[in-house]
Amino acid sequence: MKQTEKTAIVLRYANYGERDRMLTLFSPTRGLIEAAAHGCRRPRSRLLRASELFTLGDFELFEKGGRYTVTGFSLIENFYPLRNDWERLNAGMYMLNLCEAAIQPGENSQELFMLLLHTLSRLTFSDQPWVPLLSGFLAHFANTQGYRPRLRHCVVCGERIADGAPAALDLREGGLVCGRHRQADAPLIAPSERAFLRHVLETGCSAWVEDAERTAPLALMERYVGARLDKPLRVQPPEAPPAGNGSARVQPE
Ligand SMILES: [Zn+2]
Repeated sequence: MKQTEKTAIVLRYANYGERDRMLTLFSPTRGLIEAAAHGCRRPRSRLLRASELFTLGDFELFEKGGRYTVTGFSLIENFYPLRNDWERLNAGMYMLNLCEAAIQPGENSQELFMLLLHTLSRLTFSDQPWVPLLSGFLAHFANTQGYRPRLRHCVVCGERIADGAPAALDLREGGLVCGRHRQADAPLIAPSERAFLRHVLETGCSAWVEDAERTAPLALMERYVGARLDKPLRVQPPEAPPAGNGSARVQPE
């Protein structure tokens, strides 16, 4: 039996019993933790605020026989305004789900934890459009998981691909392929999309990129990351809004 305190964020919860919830927490030093929050659905429970999605705080955990119970909580941030915008909320839930699919219990994942908090903060408190933010998150997510896409040279022959030349993204090999080594199912990636990814990988996932809403390759990065996950996602990857409504992406050149 032991009592510990962990900074963590709630990735998921499942109701059980009449008033309880099982929380799936992401701790930067301990990875995934399943912890029971007894009575948290009672209106005046002191664990009420601890048991919502996106809640970041210090969780007091009591451990017995490998099972955790939440015994106390202090809130750091709950990203509440995210609930006011359905598309941004959906992007945030997808990020939580990606983290849950990627990390393991007991795993130190500080880099991914900071990436998640940083991107959630931008998504919640800035007016940066969500499509480039999420695309940047996915590029950095791939980097933290060890499959940063290679974006200058063909991953098969090593030949440099000129910035304006046509190229495809090989999802299995993890980067660009030249025309000679492209498999039929490898999607094309436009020069502007490659430039976007190179820029965010060099300068941060919330980097300002000119024309970012047009050049952020959201669907492509969702496929790229999705192909590497061990577990299926519970949340559908969000789609960029159709062209013409202000945060759209048109055909790649
Ligand atoms: Zn090649």
